[in-house]
Amino acid sequence: MKKEIICTVCPRGCHITVDGEGETVTSVTGNSCQRGFTYASAEFAHPVRILTTTVRLAGRTDTLLPVRSSRPVPKEKLFACMEVIRSAEAPVPVRQHDVIIENILGTGADIIASASFGTDD
Ligand code: SF4
Repeated sequence: MKKEIICTVCPRGCHITVDGEGETVTSVTGNSCQRGFTYASAEFAHPVRILTTTVRLAGRTDTLLPVRSSRPVPKEKLFACMEVIRSAEAPVPVRQHDVIIENILGTGADIIASASFGTDD
C-alpha cells in the first residue's frame, strides 16, 4: 500500500511516497534527507499527532481553556482522547503548562494548559 506523506520536519515540505504493508516499510522515495526518511517511515507505520483543543474551566461557562498534548498521541486514539477531555474540567486559577490530565488513556502524553487563566500573570 502506497501512502503520500508531506514531511513536516522542516519548512521545505518534501512530498514523500512510502510503500509497505502494515507496519513494514518497503520503500521511501521523495525525501531529501535522512530525517525525512525517518519521519515518513514512522508516519507510515505508526502515525501520531499533537492534540490541540479546549477544555471547560471549573465554574465558568463563558470561557474555554486551550490545551495540548505534551507529546504526540497515536492517531487512532485521538477521538477517544477528545472524549476524555470533553468530560474534564480545568481548575481555576490555572497556569500555562499546568497538567490538566495526566497520561491520557495510557499514551504517556499529558494534557497541558496552553494559557493561564485566573492568575495575575
Ligand atoms: S525530507 Fe528533509 S529536507 Fe525534506 S522536508 Fe523533510 S526534513 Fe526537510
